[in-house]
Amino acid sequence: MTALSNEQLINGLNERATRDGLTGLLNRTAFMELATQEMSRLHSAGSICTLILADLDHFKALNDSHGHAAGDTAIQAFAAACQASVRHTDLVGRYGGEEFTILLPGADLESAEIIANEISRRLASAEPPDGVTFPTVSYGIAPSTLANAEVAHMIVAADKALYQAKSLGRNRAVCATA
Ligand code: GH3
Ligand code: MG
Ligand code: MG
Repeated sequence: MTALSNEQLINGLNERATRDGLTGLLNRTAFMELATQEMSRLHSAGSICTLILADLDHFKALNDSHGHAAGDTAIQAFAAACQASVRHTDLVGRYGGEEFTILLPGADLESAEIIANEISRRLASAEPPDGVTFPTVSYGIAPSTLANAEVAHMIVAADKALYQAKSLGRNRAVCATA
């Protein structure tokens, strides 16, 4: 057995502290910290960004009818669809349960909506386990141009838009209005 160097051990611990174990995405704390840093950098540079809050549709029904393990495969497939659809400089986090946050530096509402649709398209074409259909996804999208835009404010605005997306029938993206 090869002993791990201290550096390898520290890297491993850092990785576990910042990554969600099921998906490998940023965990909520790491997302909030990195998004806050990135927004401050973008603000100084006079650039905008856009935040997407995503929530899998009727996810409880999938767990109830096919079991928690099937639900987990849907969460992992969604995470993979996100990572395949964004640039490596974008931040993708598991906010909790079946809710995810994505920060897109430099993106306006229109390009964020295109990315949300691309994520859903990839998830719909992913191969689910036998007998399972992966869920559709609803999105709330908030721009950094809102008054007082900080990450937490953008999440609140995106959450309101997400609520509208659910009310309008799910499987869609709604943009926050100022
Ligand atoms: P809606 O379309 O309104 O979003 O309905 P929903 O059923 O998706 O929403 P709800 O909040 O009722 O259910 C979310 C479910 O997600 C409940 C919880 O048990 C499940 N969940 C949370 N974390 C995990 C996880 O890590 N794995 C699995 N399989 N399920 C999880
Ligand atoms: Mg939810
Ligand atoms: Mg849900």
